Amino acid sequence: MNQVVSMSGQISALSIDPKPFKVYTHNQMDKIPQVAELPEEMRFEMKVVASVLPFRVNQYVIDELIDWQDPLNCPIFRLMFPQKEMLEAEDFDKVAELVRAGASMKELKVVVNEVREKLNPHPAGQKEMNVPQVNGEAIEGLQHKYRETVLFFPSQGQVCHSYCTFCFRWAQFVGDADLRFAAKEASQFHDYLREHTEVTDVLFTGGDPMVMKTKNLRAYLEAFMTDESLSHVQTIRIGSKALTFWPYRFVTDPDAEDLLELLRELSLAGKHVAFMAHYNHPKEMQTPVAKAAISAIRSTGAQIRSQGPLLNHINRDAQGWADMWREQVQLGIIPYYMFVERDTGAQHYFEVPLVEAWNIFRDAYQQVSGVARTVRGPSMSADPGKVEIQGVCEINGEKVISLRFIQGRNPDWVNRPFFAKYDEKATWLHHLEPAFGEEKWFWTDEFEAMKAGKM
Ligand SMILES: *Cc1c(COP(=O)(O)O)cnc(C)c1O
Repeated sequence: MNQVVSMSGQISALSIDPKPFKVYTHNQMDKIPQVAELPEEMRFEMKVVASVLPFRVNQYVIDELIDWQDPLNCPIFRLMFPQKEMLEAEDFDKVAELVRAGASMKELKVVVNEVREKLNPHPAGQKEMNVPQVNGEAIEGLQHKYRETVLFFPSQGQVCHSYCTFCFRWAQFVGDADLRFAAKEASQFHDYLREHTEVTDVLFTGGDPMVMKTKNLRAYLEAFMTDESLSHVQTIRIGSKALTFWPYRFVTDPDAEDLLELLRELSLAGKHVAFMAHYNHPKEMQTPVAKAAISAIRSTGAQIRSQGPLLNHINRDAQGWADMWREQVQLGIIPYYMFVERDTGAQHYFEVPLVEAWNIFRDAYQQVSGVARTVRGPSMSADPGKVEIQGVCEINGEKVISLRFIQGRNPDWVNRPFFAKYDEKATWLHHLEPAFGEEKWFWTDEFEAMKAGKM
């Protein structure tokens, strides 16, 4: 491939060869030539775990992002391939025994479902609390938790180009239709927004909406350019990991140009188009096609913001985060959120204590200049809202963790400092207790009333 690099270091899309999308799922893991070379025990373990947690990886990720010389030390390998320790030992053994004995699909399914149920498939009240209604009818595929922003799950966008092992939406991908939530059509979505003029942002999410063909995406987005009754929606966000998993979507896929044209039209119509790119590691941005994709999106007038969780075994290291944020700024990406890994799926494998997360964040933040300090975190997307760990300090002789809401179910909670007893082991909000001998948080009563449906 003949790369054309401009003065600004950007790589021209013209120099990228198209690639057909080829993907491997659970039953095809052995067909990946690089996997076939791995020790048999390891392959067995990966298949056992992949019968519980979703597995899907594509040829680009395999060939260009993973270091097959030393897979166990490759963060992208850990991001894609299930590891034995992602299940609790007893759960792993139970499933492994059945697989080894050649159990029927039916037998296996019973045990697999039991294990999945233990993994808190729907964290943060996603199914119960955030489902909006139109005319008293619940609308599938919408989530409205924070006043300004509605999440939309287009039904054609409920897979990804590859699956992350830590994904908090893992339950959607394991084939149980009951666990999916996806919108069936655009009209309900638009109707809901017409009734909710307080909404300024819509966030297309999934899965990954970038798996959709441009013409389907356009069916949802066109109205924001033409329909006066939707003019309160100023910002169109697209949450996606396609810049990592399938950058060809923006560069050489048959409808790549149409997609860029759609983004350009939205920008010209006065919308703020924000591509919320999921990144976990600087390696994800290093290939020529990834850089070409970033530059193609930016050329439409859309902004790219980056977000992703802090993960044991993948990016538990301040230097890596500082490098990643610097590299992002260089490429024109705005660092946005560092998340805390959620309390679901293989959380015990990926979790990092909150105090350590804050130390890593602080250490990385101190290394970068102001232009990368647009990033906030570490932030927990918890039931009552997005809670940021602001730091550890001592107040009146008591060591405490200082917290604030970045987003709250009640906007009035946002940006008020509150304090938890210092706890070095806590990995999630529900592990923390109020400091200063108080019995509850300032928001507890109101939140409980919301949960009880009284508000
Ligand atoms: C994070 C999140 C948003 C967007 O929040 P911003 O702080 O505006 O980026 C919206 N809805 C839900 C449910 C979220 O978790």
